[in-house]
Amino acid sequence: MNFQKINWPNEKSFAFTIIDETDYGTTENLTSIYKLLLERKIKITKTVWLYHTRDHFTGDSLEDKSYRDFILHLNKNGVEIALHNVGSGFFSYQEKKNAMNLFKKYIGYFPKILVNHSNMDNIYWGHKRFIFPFNFFYKVFQRRQFYGDDAKSEHFWGDIVKEHIDYIPNFSFKNNFTSFFDDRMPYIINRKTKYSNYWFSTTLVKTIEDFEYFTSKEFVDLLEKKNAFVILHVCFGKLNIKEMEMLKKQIKHLSERNGWFVTVSELLDFLRQQQTQRILKYKDELILTLRWLFNR
Ligand SMILES: [Zn+2]
Repeated sequence: MNFQKINWPNEKSFAFTIIDETDYGTTENLTSIYKLLLERKIKITKTVWLYHTRDHFTGDSLEDKSYRDFILHLNKNGVEIALHNVGSGFFSYQEKKNAMNLFKKYIGYFPKILVNHSNMDNIYWGHKRFIFPFNFFYKVFQRRQFYGDDAKSEHFWGDIVKEHIDYIPNFSFKNNFTSFFDDRMPYIINRKTKYSNYWFSTTLVKTIEDFEYFTSKEFVDLLEKKNAFVILHVCFGKLNIKEMEMLKKQIKHLSERNGWFVTVSELLDFLRQQQTQRILKYKDELILTLRWLFNR
């Protein structure tokens, strides 16, 4: 694969960051991993919910004062706070509008990143994630539909997303660094411009073994050699924190390497400045989709 050569700031040899989905996350089960990352100055992006969940998902929201204090503490120490929809379940348009202002009030800025959850109000999700002909096949085999970008739907909030959110992830790849699969990100996708801005990809972390590999010496050597970047897509609320404690030494070693450890927005803003071509062409999206399919 033909990688574009990136000159990382401050002569760094690679870029490393994480985006954490908020599902199942509580102050109790997240404190130790964030303490560890902050001690090692590995600044990442954490998504939040503004409201308590209204379905079978669990996890704290900013409605809870002690959790809010925990999030404010992370924010003050350089963790970027982002959205995972405004909560789990159904929320009205007005609630979503209020959620943005509440976010600004608590955190001090509007969220720049939205990670789609499994809500009906997801933006360009389900078959709408894909280019023709994949969107067509996906619709046949996967019935579930999403309406966040459908102005006629009660789930609609696309105009709010367009106004505030800069970046949304679409593809999540396995087993390798993110720029191995997608070195053009972030980009605009023409058919999605009405209710979204830029799109990007991530590297999926499902198990503690994945996390162990993506923080290992072997993997960091590879990042360095390839001048690569990685955005790990994790759900720390689901991982076994006790097992993660065992990775303390490994995370310390990672932090001592010559990496650029920044939040996801900082990395994406930087990548955006490097490119001249910001619109993903049909052919490139097709290649990206095929890579994703073969990576399943
Ligand atoms: Zn989720």
